[in-house]
Amino acid sequence: MDNQTRITFWSGLRTIGGTIISVEHQGDRVIFDFGEIFKPQGHILDGKVRMRKSRETSDLLELGFLPEIDEIYEAKSLNNYPVIPEEMSEKNTAIFISHLHLDHVGGLKYISPNIPVYMTEESKKLYSSLYELEEEENGRKPEFIIGIKPFHEITIGASIHVKLIPVDHDVPGAAGMIITTPNGKIAYTGDLRFHGAQSEKSHLFVKEVKQSAPRLLITEGTSLQEDSEPIPTLDSTIEINQEADLQLKINSYLTKTNGCAFFNLYHRDISRIQIMIRAAIATGRTAVLEPETAYLASKHLCERDFLTLLPEDLESKKEEWENRLNSISWISKHELTQNSHLYFIQNSYSRILELLDFKGKKGIYIHSNGVPLGSFDPNYTKMERFIEKLSFEKILISCSGHATANHLQWLVNEIDPPYLVPLHSFFPEKLKGHTGTRYLPDIGSVYELDKNGKLHIK
Ligand SMILES: [Zn+2]
Ligand SMILES: [Zn+2]
Repeated sequence: MDNQTRITFWSGLRTIGGTIISVEHQGDRVIFDFGEIFKPQGHILDGKVRMRKSRETSDLLELGFLPEIDEIYEAKSLNNYPVIPEEMSEKNTAIFISHLHLDHVGGLKYISPNIPVYMTEESKKLYSSLYELEEEENGRKPEFIIGIKPFHEITIGASIHVKLIPVDHDVPGAAGMIITTPNGKIAYTGDLRFHGAQSEKSHLFVKEVKQSAPRLLITEGTSLQEDSEPIPTLDSTIEINQEADLQLKINSYLTKTNGCAFFNLYHRDISRIQIMIRAAIATGRTAVLEPETAYLASKHLCERDFLTLLPEDLESKKEEWENRLNSISWISKHELTQNSHLYFIQNSYSRILELLDFKGKKGIYIHSNGVPLGSFDPNYTKMERFIEKLSFEKILISCSGHATANHLQWLVNEIDPPYLVPLHSFFPEKLKGHTGTRYLPDIGSVYELDKNGKLHIK
């Protein structure tokens, strides 16, 4: 009987996100992360092309936006697309999600509901809130997600064991994984950083992985750059925006301004919401959150010193929102515009027209990892022009969720696995193995770990 551990790299290799990898031993299979496959070039699905609801899965398979993995999709969603449907599966399959960024979880809705999905308890809690906000629209219902305790080992079938180990990233509940197979262990970092407020989690992850002596380390490589070689160090002489510095920076801008102050963040980063609330308090203002963000704050933070405002697009759902946010105080647009110097106001890009109500006033607009994320997105320039038109000062105060290139090379050298696969990166080749061998797989490549723990390309 075939005794190899088979590792298949389905997607997310030379892009940021969309990581999908399967690890299989005999009839047992673990698939980790199931995000949206991001292909900026030639993406026909630009929001203007309407999806065909009854054919969504098979259309995405046809277009290469879903991987051709056997025995995970329901027969009725396949419309005879030539992969084996889940109903015919004799495998024990489970999916593990490292964290709740769309590039890691956004594809879950296409998976057969019969396949168990695991994530940390903390991720599941956030998932339930996002589901309530319809941000996991048509995704799997939270009651069909299994939340597990960090470090608790889950066994799939007879031969594979998986442990989720917390890491620091810019979303709560993020974890890396150690996957134990009969032919050796495989470690996966998920997305992580060492300069955030909870960097001790990432350090503990490195320690755990090192102790477990994995044969293969699969690591993210978001920060790797084309033009420089990473130096294996944690000691950062280079400028990193430490998360701890953010609030001080924001405080100093808020102190300097006596006009309006707006901020734009990505609200799955719950700790960033907290930073904004605290910065407002520290400078004699009150944070005003959009209702969706206020909902997340009410569920996931202890802070209650903020207000919420009903934007124009939610006016028809006023009652529903008042019920949902019954413990939060509301502020009127009139009060906000009259006394804008007393508040620190959230403004998401989709609601940028709300800023017209503050026309003629002086103000600052703090962009803090909100959407549009950066100049690679054409909407970023549009946002900048709009802010300029209103004569607000645009200020960039951000902190990346990803380890610097130097930190990544330190992580690799520290763990020093026999085999290394960097991915989730535009320049994975910049990360080098220490004493081990580095592989740069192509989409669909299959590797086998044999009984002596040796990795072979199939
Ligand atoms: Zn990612
Ligand atoms: Zn992420």
